[in-house]
Amino acid sequence: MNKYFELATAATIKGMRRREGGPFGATIVREGQVIAAVGNTMVRDTDPSAHAEMVAVREACQKLGTMDLSDCEIYATCEPCPMCVGVMMWANVKKVYYSSTREEAALHGFSDMHLRRYLEGTAPELFNMEYVGERTDCNQLWQIFKDIEGEANHD
Ligand SMILES: [Zn+2]
Repeated sequence: MNKYFELATAATIKGMRRREGGPFGATIVREGQVIAAVGNTMVRDTDPSAHAEMVAVREACQKLGTMDLSDCEIYATCEPCPMCVGVMMWANVKKVYYSSTREEAALHGFSDMHLRRYLEGTAPELFNMEYVGERTDCNQLWQIFKDIEGEANHD
């Protein structure tokens, strides 16, 4: 475990020195083998989604040629935010270990509490999302997908 956190912190320090991103890193491991050790790359990529865990999942999926990381574990330097929890769940990541907490991150100016409060339903005013009702143009996508999948299965 020490080795995996050391790889994550080393990648993060390197990235901060290069002005690539903030003080967050992650290592993704599959059956004892390191697949990726990365830092946050939000600044380099001009990408608000380039949190370390996101970068690690993207890199691992590309390297392994799969969207299923159910045999992988992630070692994150800090408690993952809800967005990253989401992507790790979509990728079936087996387990996440983290060290610094959300409270420590907030003390250093990296609070994700607005996301957490919105998702908990305690602060609906923080994001504007509205259901507009059923639309045929949107609704047709389910059937088109089914048709295309059906054609692919007949090839
Ligand atoms: Zn995150």
